[in-house]
Amino acid sequence: MNCFSQPDLLPVDQAIRLMREAITPVVTTEKIDLVNALDRVLSEAIYSSLNVPGHNNSAMDGYALRQQDINTETSLTIIGHSLAGRSFNGVVNQGECVRIMTGAVIPEGADTVVMQENVSTNTQNNSICINQPTKMGDNIRRAGEDIAINSLVFNQGKRISPVDIGLLASLGIAEIHVYKRIKVAVLSTGDELKPLTQKLQAGDIYDSNRPTLIALLSRLNVEIIDMGCVADNPEKISATFAAATVQADVVISSGGVSVGDADYTKDVLEKLGKINFWKVAMKPGKPFAFGVLQKQNSTTSTGWFFGLPGNPVSAVVTYHQLVLPSLRYLAGEIFDEAPVLSVSTQTNLKKQPGRTDYQRGQLKLQNGDAQVATTGNQSSGVLSSVAQANCYIVLEQERGAVTAGEKVNVVMFDRFLQ
Ligand code: AMP
Ligand code: MG
Repeated sequence: MNCFSQPDLLPVDQAIRLMREAITPVVTTEKIDLVNALDRVLSEAIYSSLNVPGHNNSAMDGYALRQQDINTETSLTIIGHSLAGRSFNGVVNQGECVRIMTGAVIPEGADTVVMQENVSTNTQNNSICINQPTKMGDNIRRAGEDIAINSLVFNQGKRISPVDIGLLASLGIAEIHVYKRIKVAVLSTGDELKPLTQKLQAGDIYDSNRPTLIALLSRLNVEIIDMGCVADNPEKISATFAAATVQADVVISSGGVSVGDADYTKDVLEKLGKINFWKVAMKPGKPFAFGVLQKQNSTTSTGWFFGLPGNPVSAVVTYHQLVLPSLRYLAGEIFDEAPVLSVSTQTNLKKQPGRTDYQRGQLKLQNGDAQVATTGNQSSGVLSSVAQANCYIVLEQERGAVTAGEKVNVVMFDRFLQ
């Protein structure tokens, strides 16, 4: 620890670990149709009951034949056709071949496909000559080369992507078991916040955090409960938190989490539940509260609480760095940490030791090399610094100012943010 360290601030990795230790992932499951499975989390491992593809088949339009005949026979007689879905039922013997189309089953006796571009056809005697040397097994897609029968396809905890849906469909799986979606309530706090339809008076601003958070949460495919905007009034905040906890597994608020005269979030959290921690060594986003809300009229049932700072960039970054991994874990997902790239910065970066910085950057290729540049003003109120970015420049807690040309760690924005 040096003179810049702030001992009351929790390092980011510790904050993430503490939240993970506190949270128990959802256990209730349901059976759903595959067509509705996008972004749901598998509660079962999936094994294949089929080979994909199911049969050896042709990767090309051409001719199926015996490779050994290519050197010994001057021409091969076409004895039939094999089309995708309409197989040739006979056997290919010496001196014979079958006209075959992409995806069609390889007929018995044949071991190689020659593409039609490498063949001369003689329509008079219904035969072909091969113009190019061919190796045994060329242009044949083997049964099970994509997925072998009985093999593990997905582990439990997998979040289903569009391509995963295609893969499961190729196995003939019409229904899957997934974890129930978690319910997340969202609210904004602040006397200055106005709905988008209202004209602003001096000092008012539009509530941009709630639409942002609702959009971020819809990428995660959770059930969203919009609790609206609440004034800086402890009774009103308390009533809204209580109402939200009755309906939701998680409550996310923004604003009022610091130590200002109108910051009531922590007090209310303490009254209705418990604060686990509320200061994290990150920039933006130092005031961030994590805790538990007790459900009213219940001594056992609780909901999780995440109190984000009001500044729009701080709200996005704390959501992305701290709330998102916790929600994914709570939803039953098993996932890897995002890959960290080490690249040179094209621009100087302001930084003071003591907190991990999540500066917003643009990663670009410069003469074939990846380089990153800051998106400019990094104030926690400047949301365009996030909108213009495609990555975080993550500067380590104890690092100071960075000079152009130095290596920095970069984490690309993922699909949950962009
Ligand atoms: P607070 O965390 O409540 O002290 O707010 C910090 C800054 O963020 C202030 O400038 C607020 O006006 C602004 N702010 C708070 N909540 C929101 C919101 N929902 N949308 C946009 N800005 C907000
Ligand atoms: Mg406020």
